[in-house]
Amino acid sequence: MYAPGDVRVEDRPDPKIERPTDAIIRLSATCVCGSDLWPYRGQDTVDWPAPMGHEYVGVVEETGSQVSTVKPGDFVIGSFFASDNSCEICQAGYQSRCIHAEPVGAIGTQAEYARIPLADGTLVATPGMPEPDLIPAFLAASDVLGTGWFAAVAAGAGPGKTVTVVGDGAVGLLGVLAARQLGAERIIAMSRHEPRQALAREFGATDIITERGDDGVAVIKDLTKGYGAHSVIEAVGTQESMRQAIRSARPGGHVGYVGVSHDVVLPGDELFFSGVHLHGGPAPVRRFLPELTGQIWQRTIDPGRVFDLTLPLEKAADAYQAMDQRRAIKVLLQP
Ligand SMILES: [Zn+2]
Repeated sequence: MYAPGDVRVEDRPDPKIERPTDAIIRLSATCVCGSDLWPYRGQDTVDWPAPMGHEYVGVVEETGSQVSTVKPGDFVIGSFFASDNSCEICQAGYQSRCIHAEPVGAIGTQAEYARIPLADGTLVATPGMPEPDLIPAFLAASDVLGTGWFAAVAAGAGPGKTVTVVGDGAVGLLGVLAARQLGAERIIAMSRHEPRQALAREFGATDIITERGDDGVAVIKDLTKGYGAHSVIEAVGTQESMRQAIRSARPGGHVGYVGVSHDVVLPGDELFFSGVHLHGGPAPVRRFLPELTGQIWQRTIDPGRVFDLTLPLEKAADAYQAMDQRRAIKVLLQP
C-alpha cells in the first residue's frame, strides 16, 4: 500500500531465511482483513509504502537450522503475531503478546512467499495436504475465526448463555459460529446487511437485530427480560461499538472485545457502574489453532463461508475496494 486507497501489486525480492528459527512458506491463499481497511481509509498512521497482509496458509519451502516442528512440504497455518509459544505469556495462552512476538503484518503475506519468524512456535501443520475446498476454512483460522473464537471465549459464551455480537464483519460472523460451537443458548447478531444476516443465521444466530445505539440496547434488554446479555462480542473497535457492547451486557456479564481499538475512550463512571468484565485485545489465535484446524480437517465447521469473493493476487486493489465498499464480506486472494 503506497497511500490510503493506493494498493499496487509489484515484484519484490524473494524472502530468505534470516534467522535459524525462520521458515519460508509458499502461500496457498491469502486475504484482505477488515483491519487492513484502517490504513486504506487513512485512519492509521503508516510508513509508506507498506507491505500488506497478515493472514496466511501455505506450504513450507525451507526452514532454518533450528526449526524442528515443521518441515518442507508441510501445509501450515499461522497467525498475525509470530510467537515462541514457550514463554510464560504463551504458556498462559496469550501468544499474541508473547515477549518475543513479531507482527507478521510487517512482513506482508499478501504475497506469493513469506518469511515466518519463530516457525516452531508460530506454525501449525495439518495432518496432510488438505483438499482444495478446505483451504478457505484454514485461511479463516489464521485470523478471523481465531479472533472470533477468542472473543467468544473472552465473553464467556457457553451453555445457557445469551450472546450478543456487535459487528457483522468476518470476525463478528465467526464469533457467532464460535458462540454456537461453545454451546450458547441464544445468539443475537446486530446487522443491517441482508447477506451478512443470512450468514449469521447459517452460523447459528437465533435473533438478528438492526437497531443500533440506545435503540439496540433497548431491543437486547427486551429480548433478555430486561437483564442484558450474559456475553457480548465486540468486533468493530469504535467508540460507538464499544459503548454498544458494554451497555448491552448485564451487570456481571462479560464483554470480549477484539475490534482493533480506534480512539475509544471509556468513561470511568460508566465502567464502574456497569459491573461488566472486559477482556480482549489482539486475539491469541495460536492458542486455538490446534483445535480449530482439527475441527476444519474433520469438516465439523466451515468458517471459509465468510469468503464471498475470490480474486487473483494481481487484483488485490480490487479486493480492497470491494471490502471498503462492503460489496464483499471478505476477499480471498489466490497467489
Ligand atoms: Zn512467548
